[in-house]
Amino acid sequence: HKWVYTFEEGRADMKDLLGGKGANLAEMTNIGLPVPPGIIITTEACNQFYVENRQFPPGMEEQVREKIKTLEAKTGKRFGDPENPLLVSVRSGAPISMPGMMDTVLNLGLNDETVQGLARAAGDRRFAMDCYRRFLNMFGDVVLGIEHVKFERVLETHKEQCGVNFDNQLTAEQWQYVVEEYKKIIERETGNPFPQDPMEQLFNAVYAVFNSWNNDRAIVYRKVNKIADTLGTAVNVQVMVFGNLGNDCGTGVAFTRNPSTGASELYGEYLINAQGEDVVAGIRTPQPIATLQEEMPDVYRQFAETCTLLEKHYKNMQDIEFTIERGKLYMLQTRNGKRTAQAAIKIAVDMVNEGLISREEAVMRVEPAHLDHLLHRRIDPNVNLEVFAKGLPASPGAASGKVVFDADEAEKMGQEGQKVILVRTETTPDDIHGIVQAQGILTSRGGMTSHAAVVARGMGKPCVCGCEAIRIDYDNEEFMVGGLTVKKGDIISIDGATGQVMLGEVSMIDPELSAEFQQLLEWADEIRALGVRANADTPADAAKAREFGAEGIGLTRTEHMFMAQDRLPIVQEMILAATEEERQKALDRLLPMQEEDFYGILKAMEGLPVTIRLLDPPLHEFLPNAEELMVEINTLRLTGGDAGELQEKEELLRKVRALSEFNPMLGHRGCRLGITFPEVYAMQARAIFQAVVRLVREGCKVIPEVEIPLVIEQNELAFLREVVEKTAEDVMRETGVRFEYTVGTMIEVPRAALLAGEIARVAEFFSFGTNDLTQTTLGFSRDDAEGKFLNEYVEKKILKDNPFVVLDRKGVGKLMQMAVQAGRSVKPDLLVGICGEHGGEPSSIEFCHLTGLNYVSCSPFRVPIARLAAAQAKV
Ligand code: ADP
Ligand code: MG
Ligand code: MG
Repeated sequence: HKWVYTFEEGRADMKDLLGGKGANLAEMTNIGLPVPPGIIITTEACNQFYVENRQFPPGMEEQVREKIKTLEAKTGKRFGDPENPLLVSVRSGAPISMPGMMDTVLNLGLNDETVQGLARAAGDRRFAMDCYRRFLNMFGDVVLGIEHVKFERVLETHKEQCGVNFDNQLTAEQWQYVVEEYKKIIERETGNPFPQDPMEQLFNAVYAVFNSWNNDRAIVYRKVNKIADTLGTAVNVQVMVFGNLGNDCGTGVAFTRNPSTGASELYGEYLINAQGEDVVAGIRTPQPIATLQEEMPDVYRQFAETCTLLEKHYKNMQDIEFTIERGKLYMLQTRNGKRTAQAAIKIAVDMVNEGLISREEAVMRVEPAHLDHLLHRRIDPNVNLEVFAKGLPASPGAASGKVVFDADEAEKMGQEGQKVILVRTETTPDDIHGIVQAQGILTSRGGMTSHAAVVARGMGKPCVCGCEAIRIDYDNEEFMVGGLTVKKGDIISIDGATGQVMLGEVSMIDPELSAEFQQLLEWADEIRALGVRANADTPADAAKAREFGAEGIGLTRTEHMFMAQDRLPIVQEMILAATEEERQKALDRLLPMQEEDFYGILKAMEGLPVTIRLLDPPLHEFLPNAEELMVEINTLRLTGGDAGELQEKEELLRKVRALSEFNPMLGHRGCRLGITFPEVYAMQARAIFQAVVRLVREGCKVIPEVEIPLVIEQNELAFLREVVEKTAEDVMRETGVRFEYTVGTMIEVPRAALLAGEIARVAEFFSFGTNDLTQTTLGFSRDDAEGKFLNEYVEKKILKDNPFVVLDRKGVGKLMQMAVQAGRSVKPDLLVGICGEHGGEPSSIEFCHLTGLNYVSCSPFRVPIARLAAAQAKV
């Protein structure tokens, strides 16, 4: 079996076998770049090593010895030759880059004899001793497991004794002393003298690299980055070149473009007269790559040309390691460079314009999830932060404002134009009006899918939740954290991307929708098949969604409109009405308000479809809390307060109790309200159609889609459809204006999915409400599951992902596929979309594409992400 390859025998696409580093060294060798010769021991050998209980696989050692001979032939030096010794580096390299996780040994092959030969050959004893001490240190640390500080201490003390500050000021004799001390450390720590035989050194180092695949750091790194444990690492044995041979030598690292902005410029650092890790280890301050142009113009020119060549070859931005030996450039590593979202976009677009990659490739180059950072206001990265607590980074973006503990107060202050941060132990749907007006949300309890988190993400508002360090005292309107007390009205800042909470106001920068970003999204639009709409409840949200490229609204919730402070009393009147007549009175007062809402949204979305969902939540959400009412009643009783008021409150409490449900999410809500109170849905339909008429008269093209939530049965939808249709006819007759509209339903309980074929007979469109569909299919309450057990399900690998975040393809997805198929078999051009949180999540978007949905709908701030993800699903 072939366990060992020379660089000439490898290629870039052999990463699985040769590791990333080895495959790219091989590729560079074969395109004629100056790479010191080397050989690669395969990842297969590493895996076999573990199969055989940490023994080298049979034949591997012989093959290594054979291939070392090819290196000797190429260099004219001999491994272990006391006159002109060949030295090598032993470098780990997994198929996926794991920076700093495994180790490298340089200058291997040195011993008491060969170091003299090296000194003579180079004509520089100081250099040879410098290499030897580096080797002893690295070999001791990486191969023999001796703590690095033990070597470091000896060096520091010796530098002090010699009165020098920097390593490169020590003389040959002084290094010789360090070398002797290092050998003593090794003998003391391992009980054996330092191994002088170069072959023994080599195989010990290979053994150590194989072993390092399973060191704690590497295991944790793989777990965090979801890298398979079975990949194994390759080992590169490469001829040494020396950056520490004098002032015409050096070593450095560089990116072919700026990894933070994407600007097309070389970006990196180098150190003169240095080796390997010196640049990153902070031994001396490195110089920016630009100064190399002045110091070594020829080398710089060659380096710049090589960078261009590598970019052309790999068609991607490269992260490069290089060394200069006596004025000659050597390439030691190249790989696709890591970059920020901003840089990823700019580089992808630039590369299309430079003719390097296609538009499809450009679209695939940007991770949709990373766009999040670019779509929210964020803290200026150049300011110093005074962080006093840290919670979960629940919704990205940053905000500053006055601390407020009550949603009503947040709403009031917000409407007055003050900036507030709503601070609660947790939020409930009752707090929506406060959240709407707040700049950001901070909660002390709840996870990444808690109410506060979901609502904040939906609104594109910063949110830090589960910040357990803070203790909220509602009575005194303050919270404590450590020794600090923050009172109502104090200013704090939160960063929803990191979870940090800070005292005072910090400076922010606006989200940038750069020209490149727009360009990339336009290309995504050309490619994708799936439509992208937004969930929006206000004209402002609708406008934002349009700006971000939404092609319509997939969900307008009407309940938020009912929560507004000036409407809630009327809504309550409507709910509490004893007779139909009374109820109608309240509805008549709500009608013009709703009409205004719909007018605004439909107008903002002129020419594009708008799905409006009729009332959905259980009615008690609009009523006061029973416990609070009881406190008020008792206070009135004890203080002998107003008798009329007392009676009113008691009546209210009775009603609240009558309406209370054990399980409101499975209770009297959605279309079930429409069945028992058709006049509520009739009012909403009338508000929609009257708005439509006004807009038609203004010459606006509008496309309203009336949506009935929570349907389980064809008859149910047929009944409510009639209510809507009759209202439409009435409005047309009264106004003499004819208009188009459609009626459809959400599919959000399993029965609806199972009976989709029947339901489709009376529906013009389906929209999957996957938040509820996930709850009802799994039987998990979203509000409870995460805090209580869902994390454990994911940790114990019972479920792969949180199904409220990533669509559960196996279960919920199967229902969706069935529903699409059944629906379209009855109505081939049935319009089907999705409006749950999943509509903005890339992997769920891919599933929607594969399932043949017409569109996904997500919060306005996720529209660019969805556009990109939809295009990626198609490519
Ligand atoms: P890492 O994966 O941690 O970057 P590397 O194997 O790339 O480790 O080695 C780190 C550094 O060691 C390289 O950037 C280079 O400066 C130096 N190095 C490795 N091999 C050689 C070599 N053959 N000649 C000179 N320097 C080398
Ligand atoms: Mg490297
Ligand atoms: Mg629902």
